[in-house]
Amino acid sequence: MTNSAQTIDPALYAAVTDAVRAEARKVLESGAVAAVVGWQAGRRAGTAMPTIVTDPAKAADLIFSPACVNNLALYLTKAKKEVRGKGKIAIVAKGCDLKALVGLMGENQLKREELHIIGVVCAGVQGAAADRSLPLSEATIAGKCRECTVHTPENTDVTVGTLTELPHFTPTESAELARLEAMTPAERWSFWKEHFSRCIRCYACRQVCPFCYCEQCLCDRNRPQAVETTPRPAGNMAWHIVRAMHLAGRCAGCAECERACPMDIPLNLLNRKMARELKELYGHEAGFKPKEKGPLAEYREDDDQSFIK
Ligand code: SF4
Ligand code: SF4
Ligand code: SF4
Repeated sequence: MTNSAQTIDPALYAAVTDAVRAEARKVLESGAVAAVVGWQAGRRAGTAMPTIVTDPAKAADLIFSPACVNNLALYLTKAKKEVRGKGKIAIVAKGCDLKALVGLMGENQLKREELHIIGVVCAGVQGAAADRSLPLSEATIAGKCRECTVHTPENTDVTVGTLTELPHFTPTESAELARLEAMTPAERWSFWKEHFSRCIRCYACRQVCPFCYCEQCLCDRNRPQAVETTPRPAGNMAWHIVRAMHLAGRCAGCAECERACPMDIPLNLLNRKMARELKELYGHEAGFKPKEKGPLAEYREDDDQSFIK
C-alpha cells in the first residue's frame, strides 16, 4: 500500500469510491433512504466537497479520496432542515467521523434507527495546507491520521474497502501534546495567551463542529452579554475557555475546528489535552458508546466530591 516514498496507493480510494456509489444507488433506488450525505469532486482538480444526493442517478457523483476531509456528521445537526424529517438518511463516514455520530446519539441529537451508515475504510486524508493534487504521503497527510486507531469503522450498516496493511507515518500529535504537558503552568498560560490573541472571532471553528449545535451560542448572547464579542484578549480567552469546556468529554477529535481556523490556532491540541484529562480523571473516551453523555453532563452519587471540602 505504501512505497519507499511513503505514498498511499490511490487505487485504495478508487475501490472505496466504486463501493460507495454502488451502496448509495442501492439504498436510494430501493427507497430505504431519502438521501445520502457524502462527498463529491470539488471545482478544482483533486478537491472534494460535501454533497447530499437524493436521485439514484446522481450516486455516480459520490467519491472517496484523500481530499474528503470534512466531517459529514455536521450535516445531520446543523443542516437539519435539508436532511432531517425526510426519512432515513444514509451518511458516508470515516472512522473518526463515526465517533462524532456516536457522540451525537449519546446526546439524543441523532437516532441510530434513522441512519444508514456507510463506513469507509480510510488510510488517511490530507492536512489543511496540503496541495490536494499531490498523492497522500508523509508530506501531505493530516496529523490526526498519523496516529489513527479507527481506520476501519465498526458498527456501521455496511463498511466498504480493505486495508491489508496499516499505513505507517511519523507521529506528530503525541509529540506536540508531550511538549505542552512538559511546560510549567506559567509557560502553558503564555502559550495559549499568545495563540488566543490571534483569534479574530470568525467562529469558523464553531460552525464546522458537529457538537456546537446550540441554536443560540452563549457567546453570541448580548442580553445579558456573557462573553465580550470583539476580538480582544479578555473576550478571546473567555471564548476559548467556553469552547474547550463545552466540548470536554464530547469532542470526537475530528480536527475540523483546527483545519477551518484561518489563524492557525492549534485548537485540536487543546481538545486532545482536555480528552486526556477526562480519560485520566473519569476513564472516559468520547465517541465509542452511543448511550453515554460524557462525565461532565452526568451526575453520579459516587462522583468524587473531595474538591469541595
Ligand atoms: S483519523 Fe483515521 S479515519 Fe480519520 S481521516 Fe485520518 S485515517 Fe481516516
Ligand atoms: S471540537 Fe473540533 S475536533 Fe472536536 S468534534 Fe468539534 S470540530 Fe471536531
Ligand atoms: S476559527 Fe480560529 S480565528 Fe476563528 S473563532 Fe475559531 S479560533 Fe478564532
